[in-house]
Amino acid sequence: MAEVDYLRISLIDRCNFNCLYCMPEGAELDYILKQNLLSNSELLTLIQEVFIPVGFQRFRLTGGEPLMRPNLVQLVREISLLPETRDLSLTTNGFLLAPLAQDLYDAGLRRINISLDSLDPDTFDFIIGKRGRSRWPDVWQGIQTAHRVGFDPLKLNVVVIPGVNDAEVLDLAALTIDRRWHVRFIEFMPVGNGELFSERGWIPSEELRQSIRNRWGLEESQILGAGPADVFKIPGALGTLGFISQMSECFCDRCNRMRLSADGWLRPCLLNEIGQLDLKTALRAGVPLAHLREKVKQLLEIKPEINFKQRSTGTGGGNYTRTMSQIGG
Ligand code: SAM
Ligand code: SF4
Repeated sequence: MAEVDYLRISLIDRCNFNCLYCMPEGAELDYILKQNLLSNSELLTLIQEVFIPVGFQRFRLTGGEPLMRPNLVQLVREISLLPETRDLSLTTNGFLLAPLAQDLYDAGLRRINISLDSLDPDTFDFIIGKRGRSRWPDVWQGIQTAHRVGFDPLKLNVVVIPGVNDAEVLDLAALTIDRRWHVRFIEFMPVGNGELFSERGWIPSEELRQSIRNRWGLEESQILGAGPADVFKIPGALGTLGFISQMSECFCDRCNRMRLSADGWLRPCLLNEIGQLDLKTALRAGVPLAHLREKVKQLLEIKPEINFKQRSTGTGGGNYTRTMSQIGG
């Protein structure tokens, strides 16, 4: 069983996009009230006094859209300055990134994942559920700026949806040939998007790999912070291709992470709600930090059993009440 040392921290559940696989238009989401969000100082207390002492050393900031979080740069600086922080990264849709990239880098962030589901502005806008002026140029500029500023590795996340962007897989893969970018194809999951998932289904990573193999060949590779991705590269390419296959493979035995929602719920497994801890309420009620550490430690001990519970709820077609934007994807 993998050592659990990686915490994905959702900074906000709101987002400036409505991706059809994550926040379907018309979905009535109950957003967290501002007073219920963990403040920066509460978050730092939890990281320093609870998570680090029980063994967490790697942190990813996500959301919702983390760049919408006020005082993000300050928070990044504080987490990256903690001597125990071994790795700090961020996942963003990139829309607000261009003007923030340098400040985030200077604050100590080195690794960034940017979602880019299409190279075609019309398809992109359709996926993110936004009409009017295209958001694609801002995102593309955010990616270019992150590259210029020096983020490395720079990863681009693509959720492949049959009949929407699957025809672009080769074009997206080609981005890695002469750039040190890392494109990661994520199998579409039925999390908070039941109807779309039943209509469209999902494409197994192996099918994508086969079409890339047929075009250029494919060899196994490696990259820092690969997590659950299987990493390959086109022979001679500067960047890599990652495949996150949570639908076609079970990697629960390799799971090294927990998730903290923006309102302070610690969730041991993405695919079920067993064992969650309400750390914000406990913290605000003055529960001693030693007690919280003990609770998290106990959760770490039972996590291996919780992971495998996903089998009974069914990754093959089950649906989940919370969206990825609410859980902290
Ligand atoms: N807003 C940021 C972004 O889009 O990168 C961060 C949060 S988003 C929830 C994190 C990741 O979850 C994204 O890479 C997104 O593509 C992925 N995601 C969201 N819903 C998904 C789904 N139903 N299936 C697979 N991946 C999903
Ligand atoms: Fe927002 Fe990210 Fe979800 Fe898209 S995937 S709606 S950008 S949180």
